[in-house]
Amino acid sequence: MQDVEFVYSKSILNLEKYNSKIYASINPYIGCSHLCKYCYVQAEKYSKANDISKVKIKQNAIEVLIKDISKYISRYPEGVIYLGTSCDPYQPVEEKFNLSQKILSILLQHTFYNIHIFTKSKLILRDIELFKKFSNRVNISITLITTDNKIKKIFEPNASSIEERIYCIKTLTSQGIKCGVAIMPILPYITDKDEVLSNLLYSVKTANCNYIWWDYLTLRNNLTDIKKLSQKQVYYNLLRVHFSDLIDKYNLLYKNKITPNINYKKIIDKKIINLSKKYNIPINGPCWEDFGPSYLFNY
Ligand code: SF4
Repeated sequence: MQDVEFVYSKSILNLEKYNSKIYASINPYIGCSHLCKYCYVQAEKYSKANDISKVKIKQNAIEVLIKDISKYISRYPEGVIYLGTSCDPYQPVEEKFNLSQKILSILLQHTFYNIHIFTKSKLILRDIELFKKFSNRVNISITLITTDNKIKKIFEPNASSIEERIYCIKTLTSQGIKCGVAIMPILPYITDKDEVLSNLLYSVKTANCNYIWWDYLTLRNNLTDIKKLSQKQVYYNLLRVHFSDLIDKYNLLYKNKITPNINYKKIIDKKIINLSKKYNIPINGPCWEDFGPSYLFNY
């Protein structure tokens, strides 16, 4: 078992917006041992830690969840709660600490909120019986950016394999649980090629995925003179080793911006929309409304 640290939180419900409904995110852990090289959480904006793979366990998660829920439930009895917007809720520590499972059990049994879970871990299948019981309120997005194992190994060294994630989609949808694919982030000139995207959409279609959605790689510099590599440096270091011929193209595409330029995004959007039509996969799915405010997500 990896080294972990225990922390106490004052609250766990990260309320981003009030409407007539509640939209909130919950992250049971701080940090993520999946250690994806493109992970936005590595940016100083989101974490001061040098190494996000040193995971902190929110020891009093359940206690503060109950407190938070009691505070908001009468005023906002409906809404969506997103599990895992800045950590994978089913990363390896979950196997021992079961925080995500406990949080989901409370939310599903004692509230009417819809739940949207993000993961790239096969451990999600452990809780399938719970999801089946509340299938009308659970939506799972499995993150998958490619079906190319070489790319996966470089960028997502510790996440479940591509085959395992596809198996998860197949299993969840075959049991009546709404499950789609988050193609996030799209890595310019690496996972945006016609063939790569076509293989990906074909594979998830054969697993009966209910929808796809996507977003683009962000590259952030540090905001201060903090002594840690910026998210952009981590990514560029990897490019230098594996895709050195792309450095100039990235410089041009991003210039001094955090996201790729708009013309590039339009081209890729069109490509994915055409492929989704070809393979008959809904975009954003039947539950678009449930995705909530886009600023809940940082990709
Ligand atoms: S699974 Fe998500 S949160 Fe974890 S390292 Fe990868 S991108 Fe970051």
